[in-house]
Amino acid sequence: MGSKIIINNGKLQVPDNPIIPFIKGDGIGKDITVPSQRVLNAAIEKAYGDSKKLAWKEVLAGEKAYKKTGNYLPEDTLAEFKKYLVGIKGPLQTPVGGGIRSLNVALRQTLDLYVCLRPVRWFKGVPSPIRYPSLVDMHIFRENTEDIYAGIEFMTGDEKAQKFRDFLINEMGSTQIRFPETTSFGIKPISKEGSERLIRDAIQYAIDRNLPSVTLVHKGNIMKFTEGAFKNWGYDLAENEFEADVFTWRQYENIQTEKGQIDAQKALEEAKKTGKVIIKDVITDAFLQDSLLHPYDHSVIATMNLNGDYVSDQLAAMVGGIGISPGANINYQSGYAIFEATHGTAPNIAGTGKANPSSLILSGVMMLEYLGWNEAAEHVLDAMEHAFSKRRVTSDLYAMMEGATLLTTTEFADEIISNIH
Ligand code: NAD
Repeated sequence: MGSKIIINNGKLQVPDNPIIPFIKGDGIGKDITVPSQRVLNAAIEKAYGDSKKLAWKEVLAGEKAYKKTGNYLPEDTLAEFKKYLVGIKGPLQTPVGGGIRSLNVALRQTLDLYVCLRPVRWFKGVPSPIRYPSLVDMHIFRENTEDIYAGIEFMTGDEKAQKFRDFLINEMGSTQIRFPETTSFGIKPISKEGSERLIRDAIQYAIDRNLPSVTLVHKGNIMKFTEGAFKNWGYDLAENEFEADVFTWRQYENIQTEKGQIDAQKALEEAKKTGKVIIKDVITDAFLQDSLLHPYDHSVIATMNLNGDYVSDQLAAMVGGIGISPGANINYQSGYAIFEATHGTAPNIAGTGKANPSSLILSGVMMLEYLGWNEAAEHVLDAMEHAFSKRRVTSDLYAMMEGATLLTTTEFADEIISNIH
């Protein structure tokens, strides 16, 4: 038994026993889901005793759904996520065969989950390729519905590609297509509405959590009317809608080094004095370098779909890889949110007890925070950090840690639960 989460005037109303639909997922999804739920349940019990509890409700997707219903993503499953607003899922295998969309993409599109949120933080004890991983604390807001992911592509030789090429050359006067006879085309839609809703949420997130900055990551020097417009719309929105709370680099171009670049340190000091969130922008390639060299310069990152894809994996690798990187797909306007492990189904280790459940557990932590159950979320984080610092870990981390103890997926969950207790 449980009750529905609802949204009222943009605010979630969470009952003490919210119904949470979950998809176990394929491959290692089946291995990590139950252990992750046990960890979350233990933390909630520790924080609230009997007064709060998640009412888990399994819904079908992937192979399990196909076997039972002949459909990889039954309508009922979509309806349950719509009805209960907030859910969680393990990884789903993309079915091979024509005409079947990625199930993840279908879920995101149906619920218009336009924010892909990935927090990136380091846990003490986790092996990292960088020297000071403790300085990493970033929160990626990746736009989830636009960009070249829209899938508008024309293959060279195809009639549509020829039509499109002729249109560009004859009607638009394009002269830059180097090899017209063998060119394929892809379209990159980036809208003002789509950019604004993402950037607005990213800024609000930084304000709500007292985070120092929002970096708009873009390649606007080359793609002026898509990525460049994203940056400009972002600055406009920050200045128009958040005037009292932010401090944009564009407004403060006088804070410059001798070479004419914005002086990040001075801007930070200035913002600290005023208690405002800094809004800045960095070109994507520079960001990939800068986030490795100066991770402390970046806090919230707002970017478009493709950049977000690249950035997410690099930042995840800096703090221990995909086995421990959580994620969520959210529509902050409707309240719909699906929390998910960011890795795939890992068929090479499915059923062996080698899977690290941390990614799904941490996605669960994000879900607890989204519900406002922060005390329970804190218990999980503390207990996980304990497990890592005792070097009691699953095989992915064991392989990189000296003097570690190897645990199975279930044993690792038990280790966290014993730390909670
Ligand atoms: P993958 O993430 O499944 O695996 C990549 C590597 O990381 C493998 O070596 C795997 O063993 C390892 N790995 C992944 N998660 C791990 C964990 N929790 N603990 C320890 N090791 C882990 O990527 P892939 O092999 O490219 O994809 C396999 C399938 O998953 C494909 O069908 C793909 O479409 C699907 N996929 C689903 C999602 C999703 O549901 N969100 C995301 C990515 C890929």
